[in-house]
Amino acid sequence: MLEYSIGVDLGGTNLRAAAIDANGAMIDKISGSTHLKAGRDAVVDDMVNAIATLRGRLGERKLAGVGVGVPGFILMDKGVIVGSNNLPQFEGYPVRDEIERRLGAKVILENDANAAAMGEKWIGAGAAVEDLVLLTLGTGVGGGIISRGRVLEGSVGMAGEIGHITVSPNGNPCGCGNTGCLEKHASATAIGAMARLMGLGAELTSEEVYKLAVGGDVRAKAIFKSMGEHLGIAIATLINIFNFPLYLLSGGPLPAWDFFAPAMMAEIERRSFTYRHSPTRVERATLGNEAGLYGAAYLPFLAGR
Ligand SMILES: [Zn+2]
Repeated sequence: MLEYSIGVDLGGTNLRAAAIDANGAMIDKISGSTHLKAGRDAVVDDMVNAIATLRGRLGERKLAGVGVGVPGFILMDKGVIVGSNNLPQFEGYPVRDEIERRLGAKVILENDANAAAMGEKWIGAGAAVEDLVLLTLGTGVGGGIISRGRVLEGSVGMAGEIGHITVSPNGNPCGCGNTGCLEKHASATAIGAMARLMGLGAELTSEEVYKLAVGGDVRAKAIFKSMGEHLGIAIATLINIFNFPLYLLSGGPLPAWDFFAPAMMAEIERRSFTYRHSPTRVERATLGNEAGLYGAAYLPFLAGR
């Protein structure tokens, strides 16, 4: 009997669930919206319904468990989300236990970037290594650290918050209370904010800023250079700490790689002795926004080992 697990990616905008087998093949998938305005209970209903629908479709096959990736800090042993800007209604809510109770299935809650890092390790750009760091550049900057094939959780599950590493001592203020966090200088949101400040447009996405850079706009190019420098500072620090072989980037600004990577690599080269003296790759992740689904689904398989 073929065993499978269900990965769920609960974001502030989209709710997706996928049934994935033990070899990493996606068998079935449901995509929908996260109806936050309808309230937390409606979102939990949607999530439970998506999981139950997939399970129903797969009939007799054995469900290994459910992995749920969510934005925000996670208390692993309690299965609770704390400090999520995208899902404020879930603050302190026992989301893991509630889903377990309603489905009668084992559920593992995980930070979404940690889940994405696990996905890249399982069947993505990191499949050949046991140790990697993934940075996801989106609304914020998510971070996931995989060490010896497993998510590095820290004491309660809050490790890997790379988006809140200080990269500029008196930089932009962040919702976490710090100033100069990486995500305030290198996320897709930060690119849009810089574009606004530089008079390029009020509500530009990172893709639109990228198109301006392709068209030769000097200010757009400067934005990506600044982004690359701040990313480089953070990645050099990570390399110095971990000496891992692989650091991956994913997210909306990735098409602008050629505009930000030179500045990023120059900073890494300058700031990391470890980088200069050990084989280290800084590359694009390959699973895109599917990484979190795969990684969430992998967690129940991994837990059984
Ligand atoms: Zn911060």
